[in-house]
Amino acid sequence: MSEHHATGSCLCGTVRYELRGPFSHMGHCHCSICRKHHGAPFATFVASPLDGYRVLSGSGNAGRYDSSPVWHRPFCLTCGSVLPTLMPEHGLVVGPAGNLEGDLGTRPAMHMFVGSKAPWYEITDGLPQHDAYPPDGGLPEAQPLGRALLAPSPGCTSGSCACGKVAFEYSGAPLRMLNCHCSRCRRGRSAAHTTNIFVPLDRFRFTRGEDLVRDFRLPGARFFGVAFCTACGSDVARKSVERQAAVIPAGSLDSDPGMRPTAHIYVGSKAAWFDITDALPQFAEMPD
Ligand SMILES: [Zn+2]
Ligand SMILES: [Zn+2]
Ligand SMILES: [Zn+2]
Repeated sequence: MSEHHATGSCLCGTVRYELRGPFSHMGHCHCSICRKHHGAPFATFVASPLDGYRVLSGSGNAGRYDSSPVWHRPFCLTCGSVLPTLMPEHGLVVGPAGNLEGDLGTRPAMHMFVGSKAPWYEITDGLPQHDAYPPDGGLPEAQPLGRALLAPSPGCTSGSCACGKVAFEYSGAPLRMLNCHCSRCRRGRSAAHTTNIFVPLDRFRFTRGEDLVRDFRLPGARFFGVAFCTACGSDVARKSVERQAAVIPAGSLDSDPGMRPTAHIYVGSKAAWFDITDALPQFAEMPD
């Protein structure tokens, strides 16, 4: 029997759960639905036995986005964090590793859906890459996003949530684009790290569905918050009035921002199971 276990929590802490190992099938997914649902360059999932899954709190606080007839993506209705998906037909629960604390006893072993990865994200580790699911199968059939992406206005870059009800755009070049590994971003995006784009607030606008966007400001934080579509749970752009900036999860973009990430920040608190293998500068916290 495996001794490995982990506890999981959404960003706001309403939904908490524990998982008992053995943990398996850990890998990174680059599909467009994962990128939008998490608001991250890719999602990292890990599977564990369903009978070792126990919800400790917040079971009534979950929304659900059915991205395909067989793939249900639950999320916290307060903060938008992605919650584990139960797969009773396989006796497994598959959850986002970014929300877990504990020794999993395993590490990511592959990249999948690299055929639809973000144009601004380069895979630099040596893990096997699959265009879609790994060939050993047993997983639900892949579903494309199932809707046409919105074309941006001239000179703009656009983004949207997975269900398409929320869309936004900004004009001109971003101020910066950073990979952040802090524990808040990992929980908020339910991912190894986030890639955020910052643009001046006066060059940003929601083009539809702003009334569906919930803004969650982390209590006690100076600036930190997330915004998500309440219909599907996808992380979307957040207007930060204090900073006069829009903070955009690059995973939500529908067009190429032209810019590429320039650094990794808060690597002092990065996930133990994630290795940074590119050559970008790394900062333990936020550089000046
Ligand atoms: Zn939450
Ligand atoms: Zn995916
Ligand atoms: Zn949505």
